[in-house]
Amino acid sequence: MSSYPIVEHFYSLQGEGYWAGRAAYFIRLGGCDIGCSWCDTQYSWPLEGWKNHTPETILSWIRPTPARHVVITGGEPTLHPLGPLIRALQEEGLFVQLETSGAYPPPEHLPDWITFSPKRFRPPHPAYYEVAHELKVVIHAPSDLQWAETQRNLCKSNPVAFLQPEAYEPNALNWVLPYIQENPIWRLSLQLHRYIGIP
Ligand code: SF4
Repeated sequence: MSSYPIVEHFYSLQGEGYWAGRAAYFIRLGGCDIGCSWCDTQYSWPLEGWKNHTPETILSWIRPTPARHVVITGGEPTLHPLGPLIRALQEEGLFVQLETSGAYPPPEHLPDWITFSPKRFRPPHPAYYEVAHELKVVIHAPSDLQWAETQRNLCKSNPVAFLQPEAYEPNALNWVLPYIQENPIWRLSLQLHRYIGIP
């Protein structure tokens, strides 16, 4: 039976991107080898040492809550074979959002929504350009804007496109705002959870 290394799980609000503001149950899986300098979940990087849980156990956490939307995040969740977990959540009637850098191939059973957040220093698997619902690029330096544009042009799935200023770079908002005004196909993503103090 499939089981997954769970770092933490909690019912909160999605803070970023297209579904920002929506109540969501978060499932954070262990393991990430991408190494973003701005990562705010570095504690999730180890692949080993977490307690593994089956989809049925994970459902038993969600069922007592009013959650209708589940976010599978990490770490980099696609390090794990997510198909059985996604299928079990969907069979429960839950809307399943996957947050991924795209470094590894998409799950064999697709979720309802893929938030694709490619990283410049780790080229994504090309399959995400076909299946992403949402493209979210973190802007860490002015040259990232051009790279974000390249990524958007590669996407054939016509995703909703977000630029997210890197939270630890004080100038990032000043680069992103005028760029969005000049290129209104992009939207602004802020990490709302940081502002309102929720996980
Ligand atoms: S891909 Fe996500 S979890 Fe991994 S280092 Fe980057 S921000 Fe952190």
